Amino acid sequence: MLVTGNEILYDARRRQVAVPSPDYFDQQSVRAYIEVAQSLNKPIIIAYSEAFEEYLSIEEAALLGKFYAERASVPVALHVDHGYSIEFIQRCIDEGFTSVMIDASMESFEENVRRTKEVVAYAHKRHVSVEAEIGHVGSGMNYESQEETDSVYTEVSAATQFVEQTGVDSLAVSIGTAHGKYKGIPVLHFERLRELRKALSIPLVLHGGSSTGDENLKKCASCGISKINLFTDIVTGGSEAIKQSQSDDLLTIWKEACCGMKEVLYHYYQVFG
Ligand SMILES: [Zn+2]
Repeated sequence: MLVTGNEILYDARRRQVAVPSPDYFDQQSVRAYIEVAQSLNKPIIIAYSEAFEEYLSIEEAALLGKFYAERASVPVALHVDHGYSIEFIQRCIDEGFTSVMIDASMESFEENVRRTKEVVAYAHKRHVSVEAEIGHVGSGMNYESQEETDSVYTEVSAATQFVEQTGVDSLAVSIGTAHGKYKGIPVLHFERLRELRKALSIPLVLHGGSSTGDENLKKCASCGISKINLFTDIVTGGSEAIKQSQSDDLLTIWKEACCGMKEVLYHYYQVFG
């Protein structure tokens, strides 16, 4: 069944588990993710982002997402990951997405508040949940060489003020993960996560779940993260399956790639609790 982000996230927060949120980019991926959730009888938040527009338009993404979500036996939220422009987010809401992320985390605190408030006003009128980010989860971090990153840790006082001022439904926090593929296992700031969980009454979200390590992710779920975004590890699972394929039939190879992606998602359901 198609539900809002809030319906899944507030339940996850109560139960101290994290719901996986994989990005979909075509019909095969959305169907594969929902099949995994259904076979485990667990909710899922499938995500589409502006970065995939060249593979799947907003209209196609909404149509496919709604088609599979409405027929699913488990709660499915249709989420927009990393919406940078308000116009893009509004178009997604108009097409039927039930959850959106406004990412103005690279802007000043005031500008982040202003843009988030604007999205919240538009979304809440249409019963759509809103996620925003405070602090900043960067990308391409190399944990082994302690290379510099553009990540900025989330401050508790800023997060509290931000939530009060915007009325946002969930918050992406930066505690040491990074987007994409990187070397080494990150050292996460669990103390900060516990403080944030204590100070805020809304669900917290972790971006950059891939390559973070099972133990770290498990601990994140038990320390107050309600949603973990996954992309790189899942598509890597698909690519590995293609490399190992013995077949020269395109349809068979596609099917094997989907199985590879599904295996990674099964694994993370187990890790997240
Ligand atoms: Zn992200």
